[in-house]
Amino acid sequence: MTRHHPDSLTLMEYSAGNLTEPHALCIRLHLDQCSHCRSRVDTLDSLGAVMMEHQPKVDVSESMFDSILSRIDSDTGENEVVTRVINGMSPLQKLLGEDLDTLPWKRQLGDVSVLDISERFPGQSEQVVLQKLAAGGKAPAHTHRGEETTIVLQGAFADQKGVFNQWDCVVLNDSDEHKAVAVGCEDCITLSVLSAPVKLTGTFTRMLNPFIR
Ligand SMILES: [Zn+2]
Repeated sequence: MTRHHPDSLTLMEYSAGNLTEPHALCIRLHLDQCSHCRSRVDTLDSLGAVMMEHQPKVDVSESMFDSILSRIDSDTGENEVVTRVINGMSPLQKLLGEDLDTLPWKRQLGDVSVLDISERFPGQSEQVVLQKLAAGGKAPAHTHRGEETTIVLQGAFADQKGVFNQWDCVVLNDSDEHKAVAVGCEDCITLSVLSAPVKLTGTFTRMLNPFIR
């Protein structure tokens, strides 16, 4: 079951169409599998429509806005296990055109393979990367410059913040030192949108230059 959801501000930007294409793809993949967040987006869409309709007559104060956001966030919906049935191909299949397993992965380290798919989003400044952590494998410790939005496409990983299962969403920034371990018996595959390169913090920094993003 999905437990890590995008935050309300991100969903609001998504609802308003303000996210970049790769960032919106991460959110859309999560929404396809998370009825809780779909209903949050529905609420935000309605709110956006009302605000547009009444603009500029209604002035929504900051506190009112915060209270709406906290109401949306307080509805956890964790008991709901409804998965949307997707007709045809998922947005990811459309993007990749093939299965995750048959992609031309580039092995970076013993346990880590990557595939940079940024060129599939022409005109974007963000780096878009698929990462595969072999079952039971460990990723090197690293921090992030800027912000990285990641969604788990397959398997699960754990780090200091908890366990992230399929379709969970996590945002990391420069205050997070991130040390991921693949859990379960499947390879863990993630899709990440990076607004700035990743900086390795472990002892192998120089050796792993190709992995520094
Ligand atoms: Zn969700």
